[in-house]
Amino acid sequence: MSILLGAIGDDFTGSTDLALTLGKAGMRPVQYLGVPSSGDTPPEARAAVVALKSRTIPAEEAVAHSLAACDWLLSQGAKQIFFKYCSTFDSTEEGNIGPVAAALLRHLGGEQTIFCPAFPTNARTVFQGHLFVGAELLSESGMRHHPLTPMTDANLVRFLSKQLPEGEAAGLVPYRSVARGPAAIAEALDDLEEHQVKFAVVDAVSDQNLLDIGQACAGFKLITGGSGVAMGLPANFRRKGLLPVEDGLSQMPALEGGAVVLAGSCSVATRGQIDYMAQHSPSLKLDPLALAGGGQTAADAAAWARENLAQGPVLIYSSEDPDEVSRVQQELGRERAGQLVERCFADIAVLLKEAGLKKFVVAGGETSGAVLAALGVEALAIGPEIDPGVPWTSSTGPNQLCLALKSGNFGGPNFFLKALEMLP
Ligand code: ADP
Repeated sequence: MSILLGAIGDDFTGSTDLALTLGKAGMRPVQYLGVPSSGDTPPEARAAVVALKSRTIPAEEAVAHSLAACDWLLSQGAKQIFFKYCSTFDSTEEGNIGPVAAALLRHLGGEQTIFCPAFPTNARTVFQGHLFVGAELLSESGMRHHPLTPMTDANLVRFLSKQLPEGEAAGLVPYRSVARGPAAIAEALDDLEEHQVKFAVVDAVSDQNLLDIGQACAGFKLITGGSGVAMGLPANFRRKGLLPVEDGLSQMPALEGGAVVLAGSCSVATRGQIDYMAQHSPSLKLDPLALAGGGQTAADAAAWARENLAQGPVLIYSSEDPDEVSRVQQELGRERAGQLVERCFADIAVLLKEAGLKKFVVAGGETSGAVLAALGVEALAIGPEIDPGVPWTSSTGPNQLCLALKSGNFGGPNFFLKALEMLP
C-alpha cells in the first residue's frame, strides 16, 4: 500500500508536529529531512511529511523546493497534498506562504484551497479572519518582535492577499458558517469559488471546527494550514475505505546507554526548561564568544558529557536572555553567532554518537535541523507525544537513534526529564 497524504512542512519541528497530529489520528507518518534522494516510503507509512527549511528563504526558492517535494510525494502515491506552516503564520509580506500555496495549487490543477493556521490546544485561534495567540491579536503578541518574521498584522485575509499573485485576493469562511458544520463550510467555499476566490482563510476556534473543516475539504487537491487542521484529514480516507483502523504511532525502541539534552533555543519556554533540568542534572553552558575565540570547543563539551553520563542524563545549552543574545550578536554578527552555536551542537552530537550515545533531546528548530543533518538522519518514525506538538521520534534504518526535537516555545517546564522518563 502506498501513502495517501503527502505533506510539505516549511520548517523542521513544525513538520514533526504535523506528523504527530496525523499519527494520533491513526494515519502512520514517516518524516523526511528534505526530499529523499533515493528509496520509497516504507510500506507501513500512510502519510509522508517532507520537512523543508523554506520559511525564511527567498520566495522563488521556497516555491522551487516545495514543488520538488510535491512531485516526489505524488510519485509515492499521495492523493492529497498538505502544506504546513506555523500556527502563528510566520512569514513576511514578500512571502512565503501565499506564493508557495499558489504555486502548489496551480501545479496540482486545483480550483481552491484553504488557509487555517488555528491550533486551539496551543491557544492559536482564527476568528473573523484574525489570528489570536491566547487572548491577544497576533500583532499584539510576542510574535510582533520575532527576529525574522515579525507579525504586525493579525488580519490574515488582508495579509495573505499581499502575498498572493497579482489579481488574486483572499476570501473568508467566517465562524458563522464554520460553526454549522461541514456542509455549511463547503457551501461557503462554493460561494467564494463562484466569486472567483481561490484562496480562503477559514475561521476555527475549537478542535471540532478543525475536524469539520477537514471533512469539508475532503475533495481538495491542496490544503494549507497549521498542524491542527490536518487532524480531520485521516477520517476522510477512512470514510472512503482507504485507511484501515490501525495505530498511527510507532513504539520507541529500547536502546542502551545514557542521554543528552542539547538546547540552542533562547525562547522563554526553553530557558525555563533549562533552569528546571539544571537543578537535577549535570549541566554545561556554551558561550558563543568562547567558541569564536577557541576557548571552548565541541570536543571539550563532548568529553565533559562522557565524564558525567554515569550520573544520568546531561544538559548542554547555549540559551541566553534576549539582552545577552543581542550583545553577542553585536559582537559576532547575528548569522555568525547562530552558526557557531549550531555547528558546535552538531559536532557535539556527532562525537557523542561516535562514543555510543543513542538518545538525544534537542531544543530549537534550527538547532534540531543542524544536529539531525550532522547525525546523518534522513527519515524519522514518529512515536508517542511528550507534550502538545512534540513527539518522540526514532531514526529509520540501521544504528537507530531516539530523538526528541522541540520547537523553542513548546513543552512544559519539566519537558526534558519528562521526555527521557518516557523511553523504554
Ligand atoms: P527556536 O526554535 O527557539 O527558534 P532555534 O534553534 O530555531 O530555536 O534558533 C535559535 C538560534 O539562536 C540558533 O541559530 C542558535 O544557534 C542561536 N543561539 C543559541 N544560543 C545563542 C546565544 N547565546 N547567542 C546567540 N545566538 C544563540
